[in-house]
Amino acid sequence: MQRFVRVITDDLADKELEYVIPGDWASKIEVGSRVKVPLRSRDLLATVVALSDQATVEGARPVTAIVSPSPVLSPALLELVRWMSDYYCCSLGVALRAAIPQVIRRAEVGFKRERYVEPILNVAPDELETLRRRSPRQAAVYDWLCGVQRHPTRWADARAGAGTTDRTLQQLVERGLVKVSVLNTGRDPYGGEKFVPSQPLALNDEQQSALQMVVSLIQERNPQPVLLHGVTGSGKTEVYLQAIRRCLEHNRGALILVPEITLTPQTVERFKMRFGAETVAVLHSHLSAGERHDEWHKLRDRRASVAIGARSAVFAPVPNLGLIVVDEEHENSYKQEEAPCYHARDLAVVRARFEKCAVLLGSATPSMESYQNAHSGKYRLARLQARVDDRGMPLMRVVDLRQEFLKQKALPIISTRLSLAIEERLQRKEQAILFLNRRGFASSLVCNACGYVCECPNCSVALTYHLEENRIKCHLCGHAAVAPNKCPQCADPGIRYAGYGTEKVEGAVRKLFPHAVIARMDADTMTRKDAYRETLTSFRTGKIDILIGTQMIAKGLDFPNVTVVGIINADVGLHIPDFRAGERTFQLLTQVAGRAGRGDLAGEVFVQSSTPFSPSIQFARHHDYVGFWEQESEFRERCDYPPFVHFILIHVRSEHQGRAELSAETLHRRLREGLDPSVTLHAVVPAPIARTKGSYRFHILLRSRAILRLSRQIKAAIEKITFPEDVHVGVDVDPYQLL
Ligand code: ADP
Ligand code: ZN
Repeated sequence: MQRFVRVITDDLADKELEYVIPGDWASKIEVGSRVKVPLRSRDLLATVVALSDQATVEGARPVTAIVSPSPVLSPALLELVRWMSDYYCCSLGVALRAAIPQVIRRAEVGFKRERYVEPILNVAPDELETLRRRSPRQAAVYDWLCGVQRHPTRWADARAGAGTTDRTLQQLVERGLVKVSVLNTGRDPYGGEKFVPSQPLALNDEQQSALQMVVSLIQERNPQPVLLHGVTGSGKTEVYLQAIRRCLEHNRGALILVPEITLTPQTVERFKMRFGAETVAVLHSHLSAGERHDEWHKLRDRRASVAIGARSAVFAPVPNLGLIVVDEEHENSYKQEEAPCYHARDLAVVRARFEKCAVLLGSATPSMESYQNAHSGKYRLARLQARVDDRGMPLMRVVDLRQEFLKQKALPIISTRLSLAIEERLQRKEQAILFLNRRGFASSLVCNACGYVCECPNCSVALTYHLEENRIKCHLCGHAAVAPNKCPQCADPGIRYAGYGTEKVEGAVRKLFPHAVIARMDADTMTRKDAYRETLTSFRTGKIDILIGTQMIAKGLDFPNVTVVGIINADVGLHIPDFRAGERTFQLLTQVAGRAGRGDLAGEVFVQSSTPFSPSIQFARHHDYVGFWEQESEFRERCDYPPFVHFILIHVRSEHQGRAELSAETLHRRLREGLDPSVTLHAVVPAPIARTKGSYRFHILLRSRAILRLSRQIKAAIEKITFPEDVHVGVDVDPYQLL
């Protein structure tokens, strides 16, 4: 008899605690159940992680309540949580909290219950006769209910459908002709939409062999990852769809991860059209708590077997998992920036091991990490080298901004060549996308006389000027102030705007093309919930000629009529102190370029740059991923950078500079004591952005070939030190954010 449970409480603790199961509850509690347990004087929510028939401690107290008996976590997911806590150096409680959505943990939101009506069929004929004579209106409603639906119909739908009133329905209930019941109603975020079924396409040879590779791994339950390197528009999604179909045919489920930004209605639609709306559950951050509750339950209760979602969907409770797909696996948004700082792609690979299922990583520009793994044979590699239907790759033209500067005596936002190309395309009723990964009007306000730069009072970065609001804003902490019209330091009126953002690009484009319809998509214009969807729809239907935007428009969007893409300044993001700058620029250029010429029309891409010979620009121009990878790989290996070593970055921050630095130094000393000689421990340094949101930040970087042991050592070292209350210490394993 299982008399004892071990639980992890929701207060983020790192310990498992033991409790006694009161006698008659034993059959209701299993691993993954949610319970309430007493801790000191409080009752805490907790997740059961083990059962046993013997106590390991004395005097264990009893469980006080069962919150949800059906497990919220499968054994495989529990293993993943333990692994995550170990690898990412976080407590079990923190890891568990990431794995179970809040709405499920708290169990405060339940199913939505609604009244349903249903006609009672075996009614004596003369009773109906009487009804028809005396109350023809009620009779009509009764007939409508019999005719339309043999199943229960929602009260409100019946009222609207039969064109009647609450009163008439109520009278039918009182007569005993209609039965009322209260049932669960699904809150379907895509409820009102119709999905036209789609059929599998005939695959080309490359797609066919990629599919074959994945299908055999699904059948073997082999978790060796497959990297699908397919150029933009090569039909990767069709391969995912057909591999998922095979899973479903064998009664197994599938999980598809996409970056949040590409989780557009368009993407969801492709999956719902192929597998039916009911089969596919969608998980993302814009769902209401109720919708999230229902979508999660659809999977856990086996009413849906395909999950599609962003980062945190890696924990989706898909039954009998057969395949995990990570689309755009190189995307940084898979990395969570607060604890637990997990990478959803890496967790997907680990989850596949615990689930014994296949895992497919797809990208046009694989991350250095994944391609290295394919190169070394740890992953299998499948390639799609041609766009479907042999559409050509877009022509890439590099515009040297230095030459433009010499010619025009000023740095243009839109070069003559780009402007001419847009002009020509607009005349043919084609569309253009202009991309700049920096929002706002000017990237800083600088005084001509004394050189003063308007900086954020809380962060060590320059404030960005926003023209429309005439304000200067911090893009890190949100600080905003009215823009000064003279220098705050020397009172010179010659304060000017340096650099530019999307807002200024919009102004310049409006001047150049006064008759074009222009829209801008960035965090400033997309503040309303539906703005993103509306703008994309207008663009797709041709109501917008030129779309200007930040990375929001770079990813996975398919616009057949776009034939010219302008990258306004490829140098933004290239010359920053981050070893991934080159990789990111190459990915971004390739992805943005992939938006051009996806239809029957040939596309042209203009890359404007003041450093046109940077390798990331040159390799992107020639669509040469492997060339880029080889060169970048050599650089990474020479410098001992990932993927050849792992980084662990420890952040120490406080509003008191001295206390932050001192705490970092103390931790550094403690770390030095027990480290393996193969681990490199770097000195405490101020972070490249030394101050954000009023806190001073210090970094400690470690490099190692293996993580698990080091991660445990770091955890132990941090636990042994009592840091001042205002000092915050965070550990980021395999960090992406080095600033
Ligand atoms: P990717 O995900 O690689 O960028 P998609 O899967 O979006 O590419 O495919 C691009 C377009 O090509 C889509 O409209 C898709 O329906 C179409 N497509 C994919 N595979 C085939 C095929 N085998 N035959 C014809 N069209 C295809
Ligand atoms: Zn700030």
